[in-house]
Amino acid sequence: MFTAEHESSVDSKVVTCPICSSKEFGAYRGKPNRLRCAGCGSHERGRFLALVFKRLGIKNSGLPVFHFAPEMGMARVLQELFHEAYVPADVSPESYDWLNTPVRYVDLSSPSKFLPKGGVQGLVHSHVLEHIPGDLTSTLLQMNEAIQVGGFHAFVVPIFSKWYREDMNPELSHEERDELFGQFDHLRSFGSEDFLERIDVGFSGFKKIDLTEFISEADCEMSAIPVSSLTQLTSHSVHFYRKIRD
Ligand SMILES: [Zn+2]
Repeated sequence: MFTAEHESSVDSKVVTCPICSSKEFGAYRGKPNRLRCAGCGSHERGRFLALVFKRLGIKNSGLPVFHFAPEMGMARVLQELFHEAYVPADVSPESYDWLNTPVRYVDLSSPSKFLPKGGVQGLVHSHVLEHIPGDLTSTLLQMNEAIQVGGFHAFVVPIFSKWYREDMNPELSHEERDELFGQFDHLRSFGSEDFLERIDVGFSGFKKIDLTEFISEADCEMSAIPVSSLTQLTSHSVHFYRKIRD
């Protein structure tokens, strides 16, 4: 299922979006160190996800690949790879009128109600887990139970604090959430010190793929992705797990 396809997806010496091939990038929300693609609107983490999927050479097994809270650039990449097996999903399907395929209603606070056990090839999401109410481990276990052996779970989470913290209390104000978790609607924050510890309990039977075997620092530079996303734990870093047993 995984083969290293070291295709040359970027022109030599010109920073190019791996999703839409645009060579123009602009600052995002006034932050000059944040680069948004002028062509497809992708952020660093979206381009990193796209690069990962292109390089890992994942083949379509025919089972659904769910893309939660789909963003435009990755929707395009995953649709090209998985065709009719691509399933965009969200708790607010009505807010995706730009997508050319219906968005399925899925509430990740109860994944097993929506995802058939062993019936999914893969799950993809970026900056989603910090919004999901409930117990993180239980959420991950239910999501991962749905994945077929040989399938994958690819995601990105913001790293905001040194240590993991969460608070479901609905009485917390937007300001308090912003301060504690980095955004007004975040329920938790992942920590630079204990990220793996928190995540790994939900990934029994999975192997984390070392992306440096497929992607180089130069690849990142040429795709307007900070090299630190590959070499360190950042809010743009892609975590790619492959299911090796039930
Ligand atoms: Zn682009």
